[in-house]
Amino acid sequence: MSIQRTLSIIKPDATRRNLIGKINAKIEDAGLSIIAQKMLCVTQAQAKAFYQVHAERSFYEDLCNNMVKGPIVAQVLEGEDAIHLYRTIMGATNPSNAEPGTIRHDFGESIDLNSVHGSDAPETAAQEISFFFSLIELCK
Ligand code: ATP
Ligand code: MG
Repeated sequence: MSIQRTLSIIKPDATRRNLIGKINAKIEDAGLSIIAQKMLCVTQAQAKAFYQVHAERSFYEDLCNNMVKGPIVAQVLEGEDAIHLYRTIMGATNPSNAEPGTIRHDFGESIDLNSVHGSDAPETAAQEISFFFSLIELCK
């Protein structure tokens, strides 16, 4: 294990329901530090570029449409084993399969409105962090 960084996004379905504080309480209670953060509204083109890896999937259009429905909070989390730890506290992609106490179990509405995104590997974490943040914006 080592100190890692991962990209977290609080998606529009969650910002709309005023869940930023409750989601970040779970993140901080798990021992992860938020070392960069911004609220922004992404364009359809930006959502498509961010989710390019899913371009061939049947849910790609819906996924991108859901990301432009309102503001998102993009943030960088840092801590021991941060990529796996954050995915553990996010819970399963489909909130109905997520463990009680996880973000998606407690706040997700459905598989496509599941409140948060998290990077899935060191390479994707690095790419996704640099999609939203420049080096000077990381507060460590
Ligand atoms: P994320 O990448 O958002 O952290 P994940 O890694 O758990 O989620 P992925 O397989 O990467 O899941 O899917 C990306 C997003 O696409 C999911 O968070 C979800 O919102 C949406 N999604 C995934 N599978 C489906 C599906 N079968 N139907 C509708 N939406 C889906
Ligand atoms: Mg994913």
